[in-house]
Amino acid sequence: MKKCPDQITWQSILDGEESGIEYFQHLEHCSQCQKMYLEIQESIDLAMALSTDITMPKDFPQRMIAKTKPFPAGLLAGALFILLTISVIMLDTGIFSWWITVGVTAYCGLLIDILLEVIKAVQRINPTWWLMLAAVMAVMEIFLLIKLQTIEE
Ligand SMILES: [Zn+2]
Repeated sequence: MKKCPDQITWQSILDGEESGIEYFQHLEHCSQCQKMYLEIQESIDLAMALSTDITMPKDFPQRMIAKTKPFPAGLLAGALFILLTISVIMLDTGIFSWWITVGVTAYCGLLIDILLEVIKAVQRINPTWWLMLAAVMAVMEIFLLIKLQTIEE
């Protein structure tokens, strides 16, 4: 054997997957391969020492799941929200009164403005349009009633 066998080959020999007298003849006079062989042998011995006959009970995952309680994420989120709100109020009471005076007033003002604009728009529409709209609705209702009657029959 001219070339040194690689680590995988030595591993295969130690595992009993590969055999051959030429490997051991090489091992007798090659210090580099002797070192590698001993290192692999030591790791195999260590792995064997760590192995155990104890096995996990078959129902172990089911028992662990049964012991685990569901996490109340919604409750925690709610508690955090309340805590944050309280801390904001405690830190700066001014922001709370500002929100009431400016925020609520602005929203009420916006709603009143929208309502007034709707009333103005309704008043601007020509009464003829209202009559036409009512006529269209009446025609649609008649059409639907005829359709429903056809389905019932
Ligand atoms: Zn060698």
